[in-house]
Amino acid sequence: MIRVGVNGYGTIGKRVADAVNAQPDMDLVGVAKTRPNFEAERAVERGYDLYAAIEGRAHRFEDAGIELAGLVDELVAASDVVVDATPSGVGAQNRALYEEYDTPALYQGGEDADVAETSFNARANFADAVGASHVRVVSCNTTGLSRLVAPLREAYGVEKVRATLVRRGGDPAQTGRGPINDILPNPVSLPSHHGPDVNTIFPDLDIDTLGLKVPATLMHVHSVNVTLTEPPTSADDVRDLLSAESRLWLVDPDLGIDGAGKLKEYALDAGRPRGDVWENAVWSESITVEGDDLYLFQAIHQESDVVPENVDAVRAVTGSADAAESIARTNEALDLGF
Ligand code: NAD
Repeated sequence: MIRVGVNGYGTIGKRVADAVNAQPDMDLVGVAKTRPNFEAERAVERGYDLYAAIEGRAHRFEDAGIELAGLVDELVAASDVVVDATPSGVGAQNRALYEEYDTPALYQGGEDADVAETSFNARANFADAVGASHVRVVSCNTTGLSRLVAPLREAYGVEKVRATLVRRGGDPAQTGRGPINDILPNPVSLPSHHGPDVNTIFPDLDIDTLGLKVPATLMHVHSVNVTLTEPPTSADDVRDLLSAESRLWLVDPDLGIDGAGKLKEYALDAGRPRGDVWENAVWSESITVEGDDLYLFQAIHQESDVVPENVDAVRAVTGSADAAESIARTNEALDLGF
């Protein structure tokens, strides 16, 4: 059993903890939190051992009647791998703690790429993380683009990717984020930083990205154009290629799903925890081939697409499975795929 600790129990951390807990080859040692809020209460309810992330605040948990298993140092010492899911920049500060206990660590996409030896996407570059001590699981948008680009490169070759990312203003629980009533080119200077982030997975890929922020919380939507080296004769060839990918979900027109709202509703109706959509949702109808150019729309659930990737990264750093085996195990344990 691989013993996994989760440091930072917010949007990503709580989902990763549940996903780790669902894996037959992993043991969730516990989760570290800064304060005894509603998420701490639910962690206790789920039977997860709770560790105080900040020693000076440990008493707050006791004051709230929440029993602690210890301090974050003890969690790190007891784990074979720690998943750091703290806010952007905090992961880099925590690196010294993981080094102190010689515990391999996974960081999230909000960290700069140089926090780790390699950036990670299970479908695209699993092998680069095998045996590494510090690995960064790329952001939700980079994960979504990497999953799409990997099979296209293999099947047709890619000359150039151009993607416009229509990004949610904030997650549903981020009450302070916006815009509330606006459409923001963000960042306004082109191209956006997302393309270079995809290059941490595919260093030689020619990609330009543009970003906007809109008053939405549910998902991001990507408008993608890929110029292919050896394009297929029809869009159906692309549909066949993409439907064979376990973490790409081609949304059938008959479902009547016209946007992120219905995608989330579909996931909730399907009994997905928190209504999570772990897969890229690619509108099948949008897949179009014009000459060398492929076009499509895909939706990315920012709160959850990186979750199976974190589980796979745990197996990569511990060398306990290869890419295909790990992806299959993770998918099966989560019941991924609609
Ligand atoms: P979050 O704010 O929802 O959760 C972070 C948690 O870490 C909070 O509970 C916070 O209290 C806690 N924390 C703060 N300082 C800490 C410390 N020193 N030690 C332990 N815990 C601490 O943030 P999130 O959305 O889960 O993001 C975490 C990381 O994942 C970031 O790098 C982010 O960029 C990345 N990410 C976020 C999303 C998303 O859409 N939410 C998607 C992909 C990647």
